Amino acid sequence: MANLTGQNSYSESSKCQNMNLFRKSPRGLNQDKSHIQSLLNTSFCRNCGSSDIHVVDRGGRLAYFFAYRIYGIIVEPEATMTVDTVFCRECCFYSTSRPFLNEELQCLYHDYRSEKYDHDREVFEPGYTESWSSHFKDPMVAEARQAKLNKYLEKYISRPNAIRHMLDWGGGDGKCMPSLFPRAKRYVFEVSSQKPAEGISKISITEHIKTYDYIQLSQVLEHLPQPKHAILDILKHLRKKGYLYIDVPAEIDEQDLERRVATKQLILDVHEHINKYCLESLSGLARSLGLAIVDKRRDGDIYRLLCQKD
Ligand SMILES: [Zn+2]
Repeated sequence: MANLTGQNSYSESSKCQNMNLFRKSPRGLNQDKSHIQSLLNTSFCRNCGSSDIHVVDRGGRLAYFFAYRIYGIIVEPEATMTVDTVFCRECCFYSTSRPFLNEELQCLYHDYRSEKYDHDREVFEPGYTESWSSHFKDPMVAEARQAKLNKYLEKYISRPNAIRHMLDWGGGDGKCMPSLFPRAKRYVFEVSSQKPAEGISKISITEHIKTYDYIQLSQVLEHLPQPKHAILDILKHLRKKGYLYIDVPAEIDEQDLERRVATKQLILDVHEHINKYCLESLSGLARSLGLAIVDKRRDGDIYRLLCQKD
């Protein structure tokens, strides 16, 4: 961290060492006690629904920027803000034990990728704007992502003309949607203020979402506190035999994962990515929802999954 002294919100009481935030109620949230209690009692996997889970005491730590945005806390550089984590023995899903509330994540994302967001993050993570922010905003990066996705999907979707309506769920401006469906109307569901790219219609209200032949979530699932619930909702908008495509960053793999998590050899660094997916957890999600897996694979630094709704 840099340039933190002198910040107005800094105070002696905000210093904390090895503080387990998740044993406290979230700051300033209008939640009733029983709801908070139900969140603290983790008893099933939020990815596949299995009750065969392993909670790791203080298995994760919050990134400083994340803690600042969500809880308004500025931490001494040497301090660690720990959280309990959960590992699913059934599907290898790895996440925080308590799911974040939407209100909490709203504090993180309300001005996502705006100048103000970049500025705040730069304070905690010097170099962010120059490296990551410019990377995300680079049109060449989006083009390359789209080209790779086209190449992948054309192997498995044999009737591209049958795709008439497609939706990019949480896709920003929608530029990463595949371009190999010539007859498709293209929509993006996006709650941020980002404008859609040319030829793409933006939907920002859930009630306006209709039914689609193809839905994608590209680099979205790792941000969601309740992935299975979210996909269940999304599937209501996918027609029968329609395609669901998901990709996530390949940050971990399933090899010896439970031991690495239990022994804290693998600590969960909680930032934007509150879930760490491996190929097994991605396919476990599809299986738990009764989806037919068309293909799953690692492709460089991402995992891809293509499914069909029966
Ligand atoms: Zn699971």
